[in-house]
Amino acid sequence: MAGEPQDDCLFCKIVAGDIPATIVRETPTTLAFRDINPQAPTHVLVIPRVHYPDAASLAAGDPDAVADVLREAGEVAAQEKVDGTGYRVVFNTGPGAGQTVFHAHAHVLGGRDLQRLV
Ligand code: AMP
Ligand code: ZN
Repeated sequence: MAGEPQDDCLFCKIVAGDIPATIVRETPTTLAFRDINPQAPTHVLVIPRVHYPDAASLAAGDPDAVADVLREAGEVAAQEKVDGTGYRVVFNTGPGAGQTVFHAHAHVLGGRDLQRLV
């Protein structure tokens, strides 16, 4: 069923505590933890506890969770002290855009000069 934990999902396993992660923030609906392969001095993933494969399906199925993820992205940036200099929130969607984990997640990147993308 939509939103239910998936046995084969890495991030559902992190939510369940079955795989360790360096957690930086937790709320009743979200988890924020450091990316294992950081691309910037601050590289944190913010995920909803519920399982949806990508940001758009999360938005369709649980819009409140999207708001929670985006609010937490801002809280992470403030906690990491990159809110002043600037940070980027990225939702890779689909393999062609580099998505490798099909549990919706926001990358929060900061702490270095981030080239303008668009
Ligand atoms: P994406 O490629 O947008 O799907 O993002 C998935 C991210 O998850 C990548 O940046 C990976 O480095 C990161 N990642 C994969 N496994 C783990 C893990 N066990 N703990 C933390 N981050 C991970
Ligand atoms: Zn999942």
